[in-house]
Parts: sequence; structure tokens; C-alpha cells
Amino acid sequence: MSMQYDSLFIGGDWIAPSSSKRITAISASTEQPIGSVPEAQEADVDAAVAAARRALDDPAGWAHWAPAARAAAIERLADVLERRAEDVVQCVSAQNGMPVAVARQLEGVFPVVLLRYYAGLARDTATEETRPGLFGGSTLVCREPLGVVGAIVPWNFPQTLAAFKYAPALAAGCTLVIKPSPETVLDAFVFAEAVAEAGIPAGVVNVVPGGREVGAYLVEHPGVDKISFTGSTAAGRSIGEVCGRLLRPVTLELGGKSAAIVLDDAGLDLQTMSEKLFAATLLNNGQTCFLGTRVLAPRSRYSEIVDLFTDLAGTLKVGDALDDTTQIGPMATAAQRDRVEQYIAKGLGDGARITIGGGRPADQDKGWFVEPTIFADVENNHTIAQEEIFGPVLSVIPYSDEDEAVRIANDSDFGLGGTVWTNDPDRGLALAKRVQTGTIGINGYLPEPTAPFGGVKASGLGRELGPEALSNYQQLKSIYLD
Ligand code: NAD
Repeated sequence: MSMQYDSLFIGGDWIAPSSSKRITAISASTEQPIGSVPEAQEADVDAAVAAARRALDDPAGWAHWAPAARAAAIERLADVLERRAEDVVQCVSAQNGMPVAVARQLEGVFPVVLLRYYAGLARDTATEETRPGLFGGSTLVCREPLGVVGAIVPWNFPQTLAAFKYAPALAAGCTLVIKPSPETVLDAFVFAEAVAEAGIPAGVVNVVPGGREVGAYLVEHPGVDKISFTGSTAAGRSIGEVCGRLLRPVTLELGGKSAAIVLDDAGLDLQTMSEKLFAATLLNNGQTCFLGTRVLAPRSRYSEIVDLFTDLAGTLKVGDALDDTTQIGPMATAAQRDRVEQYIAKGLGDGARITIGGGRPADQDKGWFVEPTIFADVENNHTIAQEEIFGPVLSVIPYSDEDEAVRIANDSDFGLGGTVWTNDPDRGLALAKRVQTGTIGINGYLPEPTAPFGGVKASGLGRELGPEALSNYQQLKSIYLD
């Protein structure tokens, strides 16, 4: 793969960047360059925000289109992205190490599904409602597009997480400046090509690839009306502070350290459950925000659950992300691999015991690989149980009874995902309601487009997905009628 782009997608056109600086895309599996794109500078962000503002303010423009017309354009974008799904998938897997089979299911499919879902909501959701008043008269409640959205996206699911933002924002009539992560830029250009091909009006979607300085500049930009951010808790805090000062609406989807609570009645047979357990705890090489990386196991079945996860990790095929049979690919960057290794060392230092993995796979001489690693004898106050590792590393923590399981699950700075594993759905539901988290699954986990997704505590502010996300991109106006 060698993809070179020389211009930036701003104002509906491919324009010359303001500087000659470039971002090189590197394959996480081979460590080789696989393409490069211009790096957006502040002047390019200015141009992108100005284009988004013009598109928003145009009296005959996107924000003023009938919802059905916007929905038709959004569906055209879905059609183009569906056709180009394999291009997106190959770019993502090559850059961030996501196994290509996973990328096909998620990065290839999710954006298309979300665009079609929000096109439907745009058609079906009234933007005006007359309410009778309590003192006579009535009020017209209007839902207007919130304005220009700055969308800042991480590298782990770059296209799906971008779609979490642009699909509802477009449906609401907003315009966007999207800032992809420097680790995953090639897929962002395929997406920009799709926007152009779908005939989305000029300036409605603009793409400015760059690092955190460009992101910070976008967050502060006076022409931006809302920030929608997905990424680390550290960056989210600093973005939240800026938005607080500016009184700028912000959605923050941040890190996680979720609990996978195995109840004593759970029938966990690896033959039948491995796919679901894998998806809930190790998906995308552990580089997924909602994973249940703290496995809470009843003392009565502790060694059996440790063996189960050890066996699961042992069956996973580690290899080049672009190999169809790979289940665990490399970490996205060398820095990420080093970070994961430091956490493994810290876990050992704190007295936890590795039952499988812990090193680099012997048969991979290139790529930023870490073996799937299971820690037993972990205490919930160990660093590896409190901090987000973002790699294929699970901690199995014992508990005595359900109350203790809930206490351990909630003894975390984060609250994003989680699972309960049980043969009794009622018991699972009752327990799930006691966990302080934004989302939780029973006997499996997959974010559902129609339901709100997001976190509590240090996992973020606000929700994406569902009809709730459409409201995130709308401003309410009440017109009191005589
Ligand atoms: P990151 O915070 O380093 O970067 C995320 C994005 O923000 C990148 O585009 C980056 O360039 C930009 N950025 C960084 N600092 C910024 C700043 N101060 N101002 C503006 N922009 C800034 O995170 P990452 O390493 O790319 O992604 C991994 C993190 O994302 C993990 O913590 C993971 O849990 C989290 N994540 C959360 C969700 C969720 O939905 N809650 C989903 C996926 C990933």
C-alpha cells in the first residue's frame, strides 16, 4: 500500500495546504511507511472553520434544507461508503493494527449503518412542536442546527467514532470540521473522497489531519459552536476546561476500565462463548475503550475462570493485521506497545501473576506486538486494575459475594462499559443496574446504534448514538405565541 495525498479537503474542494509539512502513515504490522498526507496547520483550520461557517450561514444551504433532502444526501454518503468499505478497512487495519476481520465488521459497516439510521431520524423527527401554554397562548418549540461542530477523533476506531459524531450532526443540519488522529489519516482521506462523491454541499464536511496542537486550536476557535471529542481522559479534561471557559457545548467520550462480572452460575464454555468473551474483553487488541479489562471472578470458581481466560488468550491467533485469520494484531504505535509493556512490568512488580503472555510474540520480528496477557491474583487497587492499559491485558480479580463484586466494579475512576455473565437473566439485570456505568451488557457487549452510549465519572460527559445524539446537535428555541 502506498497512498499519497497532496491536498486537503476543505470547502468542498481539494485545496493546497498552507505548509509543506506532512504526516507519514506507518503500518503497525510492518513498521514501514504506507502513505502520507499534508499536515493541517492553524491557517488550514481557519479555512476549514470559515468554510463550515459559510455553509451553515447560507440561507439556502444545508442547515435550511428540508430534513428529507438532507436525509437523501446522507443516504448517498452511506451508499458511497458502503461501496468503498474495503478501502476504509484496509487503511484502518494497516495503520492501527486492527485485525482486518474486526475492521470489516466495525469500521466497514458501522458508519454506513449510522448514516442510514440518522437519515431516518432526520426524516421522522419533528423539528417544530406547538405546546399549549399554562397561562394561555402557546409556544412554538424549534430544534435548530447547533452550528459548526469541531469533531476530534482517536485512532482506535477512527471511522466508526467519527461517524458517531458526523452522522447525527449532519442529520441535525450542522456543518463539521473533523480532526483525525495523526496515527490514522489515510482512512480520513478515503472518507473525504466519499463526501465529495456523494455530493454533500461544499463546506458541510471539512477534514484537518493533525496532532494535539491542531486539535487544541480547533477547540478554542471562535468560529466553532460545539466540540465533540473522543479520546483519553487527560485530553478530555483539558478540552472540557477550555469549553467551560468558553461556555461551548462539549461531548466527551473518554477512557474506561470496565468490569466483566462473572457470577457463580455463569455457564462459560469456551467452545460456545469464546467469540462473545473475546469481543467484550480483548476486541481490537485491547485498544477499545469499553472493554471489561477487570474480570471479577467468584472465589468459589476463581481458578476455573483464570484457566478459562488463559485458554481464551492461548487460542488467539496473533499476526499481521491484514491477515484474514488474525485475531490479535499489533499495538497502533511503538509508544503504545512500550506503554503496555510498562504496565505489564508494573503488574508483576505489584505481585500479580502472569498465567499466559507477558512478552512479545517470538514469531513476529516486525510490528508492535504484545502477547495476549492474563494476570491472576490481582487486587483492585493495583495500578493495572485502576489505569487504562489499552492493550491485550486482562486482570482477574476475586470476589466473595455479589455485594463485593458491585463494590469492586464501582471502585474505579471510570464508568464506561461492563458486562455481567450469568445463566439467570433477571439476576444479571438486577446486578447490571447496580454498576455505576454508562453502558453494560449481559452475556455479551456491543454498542447499539439506537441506544445512548457514553460514560460516567472520568469516562466522560454526554452521550452519543440513539435519538439523544441528534438532540446533542440541536439548539432549542422557544417562540412564545400570542
Ligand atoms: P488522545 O486523547 O491522545 O487523542 C485523541 C484525539 O484528540 C486525537 O485526534 C488527538 O490528536 C487529539 N488531542 C489530543 N490532545 C488534545 C487536546 N489537548 N486538544 C485537542 N485535541 C487533542 O487519545 P488516543 O490515544 O488517540 O485514543 C485512545 C483513548 O481514547 C483511550 O483513552 C480510549 O479509552 C479513548 N477512547 C474513548 C472512547 C469512548 O467512546 N469513550 C472510544 C475510543 C477511545
